[in-house]
Amino acid sequence: MDIDLVLRSTRVITPEGTRAASIAVAGGTIAAVLPHDAEVPAGARLEDVGDDVVLPGLVDTHVHVNDPGRTEWEGFWTATRAAAAGGITTLLDMPLNSLPPTTTVEHLRTKQDVARPKAHVDTGFWGGALPDNVKDLRPLHDAGVFGFKCFLSPSGVDEFPQLDQEQLAASLAEIAGFGGLMIVHAEDPHELDAAPQKAGERYADFLASRPRVAENTAIENLVNQARRLSARVHVLHLSSSDALPLIAAAKAEGVKITVESCPHFLTLTAEEVPDGATEFKCCPPIREAANQDLLWQGLADGTIDCIVSDHSPSTADLKTGDFASAWGGISSLQLGLPAIWTEARRRGHDLTDVARWMSQAPAELAGLSRKGAIEPGRDADFAVLDPDATFTVDPAELQHRNRITAYAGRTLYGVVTSTWLRGERINDRGTLAEPSGRLLERNN
Ligand SMILES: [Zn+2]
Repeated sequence: MDIDLVLRSTRVITPEGTRAASIAVAGGTIAAVLPHDAEVPAGARLEDVGDDVVLPGLVDTHVHVNDPGRTEWEGFWTATRAAAAGGITTLLDMPLNSLPPTTTVEHLRTKQDVARPKAHVDTGFWGGALPDNVKDLRPLHDAGVFGFKCFLSPSGVDEFPQLDQEQLAASLAEIAGFGGLMIVHAEDPHELDAAPQKAGERYADFLASRPRVAENTAIENLVNQARRLSARVHVLHLSSSDALPLIAAAKAEGVKITVESCPHFLTLTAEEVPDGATEFKCCPPIREAANQDLLWQGLADGTIDCIVSDHSPSTADLKTGDFASAWGGISSLQLGLPAIWTEARRRGHDLTDVARWMSQAPAELAGLSRKGAIEPGRDADFAVLDPDATFTVDPAELQHRNRITAYAGRTLYGVVTSTWLRGERINDRGTLAEPSGRLLERNN
């Protein structure tokens, strides 16, 4: 195949490490990773990004796009533009908060039709597991969803009820039967009921209402079910570091379990959340600084596999000053890479770690074999980052539909200078191209 693009940098992150290289691209696929001074083939365009770091395009497997149905909260046009601006080249949409939720094949097709003309990055879908849709799981799997999301406690929207332990077992058994994946919002409803519930603007009261034990208990039950049914499960948005030892033990004994955490748990702390600042509200909640230190240890030792956004915005009117009633969800799609890089570098990690947590591991979670690494045969998806440049987060510059974010005013390291999708530049210093994202279906 003819090489049509050569992307050159002194710092390219490959599976073998970071090196000066020229990436040869043919028809949107990486054809070769050549020496930095390799000759540019006749007819190929050279793009030299100097000392900017070339990472594999980020894969964000946890995004609430809410389209169709709650498009005043977000939508495929704005979400995928924010993704492109933030160095994300693949996103997977969560099955809830849109209307309809992605719980039948018909609903999946509705969502795909809505997404297709608006997708600025490659976009795929998770299905949803509800108490009454076990019969829909296999057809959804066959139709290409990447796995199934369930809640063990109330989801926040009436049309997406949670599973009790018996229903979880039934869905898990069905999914394990066809080799699928269950991804789980793991908070135990009984532990939440037992916690003190106090409305108001004090963050400490909200934190007490979502205790670590709710996560720990739910994860312990999930591990037991996964072991018993030999099912593959994934813990969404881990916040409680107390659960790390039991997850590590489950992994060591061969339970098929993976874990993600999110930029807000890894870069923001309970101690710094101002009272009434419900842009910081999410479930499970942002916890104490000491808890965050242990989450970073879990990343370093591999207990936590991925970092994904859990971007879950709403309109400003739902972010009232009362933590009990405000919408729970943090808006960060465009900011995840600089937020994580800022904290990672402070803690002595390098960008190869960031690429593993934010591209390679989420791609593996979803079975996206063409994503997640800069090596021949993969899609030519890249995030180009000036890692030493800083910027101060100005909500007005975000592509999110609602420009409310817990990161407003923070100064972060790492400016995304360009984003490339299958060999085409889709973001050039914040100037975004027309949509060229494809709809992805599970291929394993
Ligand atoms: Zn979520």
